[in-house]
Amino acid sequence: MVFGKDVVIYDLDDTLYKKTEYFADILDRVMAEALVFDLGLDMDVEQAKKLVTESYRIYRDGGEIFYKGFGIKPKDLFIAYHKRKPVEKIIPYDNLLAKIEKVPAEQYVFTASDRYASEKILKHIGLYEFFKDRYYSVEDFGVYKKNENSKVYNEFCKKIKVDPKDCVFVDDSYSNLEFAKESGMTTVRIYYHNNSAKDKKYIDYAYKGIESFLDNILEGKAA
Ligand SMILES: [Mg+2]
Repeated sequence: MVFGKDVVIYDLDDTLYKKTEYFADILDRVMAEALVFDLGLDMDVEQAKKLVTESYRIYRDGGEIFYKGFGIKPKDLFIAYHKRKPVEKIIPYDNLLAKIEKVPAEQYVFTASDRYASEKILKHIGLYEFFKDRYYSVEDFGVYKKNENSKVYNEFCKKIKVDPKDCVFVDDSYSNLEFAKESGMTTVRIYYHNNSAKDKKYIDYAYKGIESFLDNILEGKAA
């Protein structure tokens, strides 16, 4: 068990691998390119990229400014962006699989990437075989985000036939944890620089990087 629960559900992006600032900048550009080249946004890529960065800063979602003010549909950007995602530039952790294999709980992935990108990412970071039948995308539930309400977390639990109260949800993005908590899950935030969301009541535990969380479990400190 982990924190007395039988099930651990991980976010994928920036949780099971670490997004460097260099990679984050590439992703902002890729989203801008998807907007301009694939979706016909009437703007140059540099200008669009600035707005993507601003949109992340304000809304924690790079597309929001474009949905609100430029007639871009979330679904269209979701698909175009994930097709362009440069998965090969992700630097996988060493030995993550060996650690995950030893965690004494059922484990799943629930990601806001689409199925196409999440399969590529899981393969790239060496976790595809382990999570092959145990990863889900928001796409599987007909939505594009997991920080809007708790409904998608309840549906996820129905799908895997567990009670949210028996789940630990692990995510770097605290806006997701708010709704995981609302559904009844125990929440773990993964941070990198400093624990910026200490004050959030819906976060039960916080760890610097996924490896420190897994090490704690394997040392018996999170049973
Ligand atoms: Mg994430």
